[in-house]
Amino acid sequence: MAIRNIRQMGDPILEKTSKEVKLITPRVKMLIHDMLDTMYEAQGVGLAAPQVGVLKRIVVIDVGDGPLVMINPSILETSGEQTGDEGCLSLPGKVGTVTRPNVVKVEFTGEDGAHYELEGEELLARAICHECDHLDGHMYVEKAEGPLREPKNDEEEEPEGEN
Ligand code: ZN
Repeated sequence: MAIRNIRQMGDPILEKTSKEVKLITPRVKMLIHDMLDTMYEAQGVGLAAPQVGVLKRIVVIDVGDGPLVMINPSILETSGEQTGDEGCLSLPGKVGTVTRPNVVKVEFTGEDGAHYELEGEELLARAICHECDHLDGHMYVEKAEGPLREPKNDEEEEPEGEN
């Protein structure tokens, strides 16, 4: 296990489309564990493989309910709307206002190779959308309403998290 270097906005790898994972090899498992270590070290709520320089469709998320590992995630349905601040580990010290669906149903392969479906609400729905966007080369700044800001102090004490 290791902490990997998080690529920052402007790095061309963050604009590329990641490739489907066909086989969960020991190397893929090592990547997943490194991604979790890297996300926790950076106090983020999510991280996508391209953020550590690997163009594979893998995301890790923890909104406070324990780690979620999603391989080849695909959003099946969305509903509702939420507008709130969003940040990204690839653009530290900034937040922007982004409107996302309030509920997201996603299917993915787990680290165990099994197929899963999951419905996420609120912060989890936001994190799923944010991380899946990374797999297609998109950053939240493209969707931000108005200018990016520095996070407020109360948000630093109780961070909603950066993805
Ligand atoms: Zn991000």
